[in-house]
Amino acid sequence: MKGLKADGTPIRVMAEDDSPVIRKPIRKALEPEGFAVVGEAGNGKEAVALFQALRPDVITMDITMPVMDGLEAATAIKQANPAQPIIMLSAMGDAELVADARRRGITHFSTKPFKPQEMVENVLAVLGS
Ligand SMILES: [Mg+2]
Repeated sequence: MKGLKADGTPIRVMAEDDSPVIRKPIRKALEPEGFAVVGEAGNGKEAVALFQALRPDVITMDITMPVMDGLEAATAIKQANPAQPIIMLSAMGDAELVADARRRGITHFSTKPFKPQEMVENVLAVLGS
């Protein structure tokens, strides 16, 4: 089970995307491997509030979302916790936005759509394991 920590507890993940059609496959990719998807949010404002409440191990963050986009949300979260592992989910055509995210200190990206195993490997990679 790749989603378990050394102490046997699950790696806790938050999945942020305005599309349930993306959030659902994140959950379906991770949960069979033992990860716990502890929260989902559909916009950046909810994502920041959920991060403060849950303090997950990893956040997957869509870039384009209503109310507050993923770049703003990731920036706010990184200000609160510079070490917070975040994976930005980018779609085709997001090259400029990805460059902006890199300038904001985001180092890990995953493209949509993704294969389940890619999501597992990306979450482990952002944790450095
Ligand atoms: Mg979106």
